[in-house]
Amino acid sequence: MNFVVCKQCGKIFEGLPDSLCPRCMMDIDDGFRAVYHFLNSGRLRDANGKDIKKAESMKELCEKTKVPEWIVVKLLREEKLNIKYALEGGLECEVCHKPIAMGEMCDTCKDNLSNQFYTGLQDRKLR
Ligand SMILES: [Zn+2]
Ligand SMILES: [Zn+2]
Repeated sequence: MNFVVCKQCGKIFEGLPDSLCPRCMMDIDDGFRAVYHFLNSGRLRDANGKDIKKAESMKELCEKTKVPEWIVVKLLREEKLNIKYALEGGLECEVCHKPIAMGEMCDTCKDNLSNQFYTGLQDRKLR
């Protein structure tokens, strides 16, 4: 075990490099439960049966759940939460900055990346 600095709160604790302190891990756990419950407590639909978003923005979602934004963002980036029916474009694609619901990249950029990866593999084979 080594002493490391928590990437989130800056506290020094005994653990693995690149991890968060037990306090922050607990906050993430609690945050996950709160947001999960909020998102899954029944879908809202309008008269036409279309989904009504439960929150207009990331800020509103955080206010309603009382969960800090960094936790919601972390959970979405890691695809632990699905906000498709609850929040429109909570995150940005890390490549083209298009609004996305979860993960790190939009589908287009994901496709581009896997194509590049595939071409890269082929290039290597030819050499
Ligand atoms: Zn921490
Ligand atoms: Zn993109």
